[in-house]
Amino acid sequence: MSLKLDGKKLSLEIEEKLKNYIYINKTIVKRNPGLAVIRIGEDPASGVYVKNKEKACSRVGIKSFIFHLKDTVEQKEVEELLNKLNLDNDIDGILLQLPIPKKFDEQRLISYINPKKDVDGLNEQNIGKLVKNEPAMRSCTPAGIVNLLRSQNITIEGKKIVVIGRSLLVGKPISLMLLNLNGTVTMTHSKTKNLNKICREADILIAAAGKPNLIDASFVKEGAVIIDVGIHRLTSSDKRKVRLCGDVLLEDVIPKVFAYTPVPGGVGPMTVTMLLVNTIYSWQKQFGLSSTLNDLLP
Ligand code: NAP
Repeated sequence: MSLKLDGKKLSLEIEEKLKNYIYINKTIVKRNPGLAVIRIGEDPASGVYVKNKEKACSRVGIKSFIFHLKDTVEQKEVEELLNKLNLDNDIDGILLQLPIPKKFDEQRLISYINPKKDVDGLNEQNIGKLVKNEPAMRSCTPAGIVNLLRSQNITIEGKKIVVIGRSLLVGKPISLMLLNLNGTVTMTHSKTKNLNKICREADILIAAAGKPNLIDASFVKEGAVIIDVGIHRLTSSDKRKVRLCGDVLLEDVIPKVFAYTPVPGGVGPMTVTMLLVNTIYSWQKQFGLSSTLNDLLP
């Protein structure tokens, strides 16, 4: 029987540790960690994600500050808000909820975030440190994937790893993290030829293409580990039911693999947990607290 990599369970276990860490240390520093979340516009999925992040913060003792801006706001005003939050001593982490409306220069906004508060790990300085394999804030989804693999002692070193997708958010950082952990990584994308054949060589296959059910059993080697990053909402033909699925046709793939992540309940909850970890990492650094978190930041 294949092993389910249960992100929901692992995220609750990590949250418990984070909660205790805050509880013990806030008596020393006299304030809780603080996370600012900026949402621009009315994208409904973003609304759900921000709510989930707010709830997760309150479970562990992080104070969240939500800034919901109208999409009529100007780039300059968002930059000014970021500057203000960069200087605010009660804020340890700043998150710009993506995607944002097209009229904004997303990369420019991300580069405004103080790298020490960049809890999404997307600022050039943090990405640069990842490239150099130096400690820094790590982007949440890839860091969550590494923790899921480690939680079940799945070996990375020396394994053939194929990543489908090369985005800044997922594909590139997960490839770098696994490379830093001595995996042999192949990064693929929409122009890759013979994707099926390349994937079949993988000991660990990471699917982050953003295409529902792209990967069936024919892409997967017997006994591989498959990580499904995709999240898609599929509506039934009568529009009455909505079902979540990933990039992997799980029912086809599960009988063949050693381990897999479910959707929902796999990578998604770990992404939120790593946001909490990064916020507490920044708080801990600011106050020079002893760290128990470094193992969670690959
Ligand atoms: P993205 O920016 O759209 O990037 C998708 C990548 O996949 C691109 O590099 C693209 O190649 C590649 N690709 C697309 N179709 C392909 C195909 N048929 N074969 C091979 N490669 C293909 O998406 P993303 O932000 O990385 O997100 C990917 C998925 O993960 C989405 O479903 C997203 O919702 C989900 N996600 C989940 C979480 C979570 O917490 N669970 C977090 C982040 C994202 P090109 O570069 O050539 O275009």
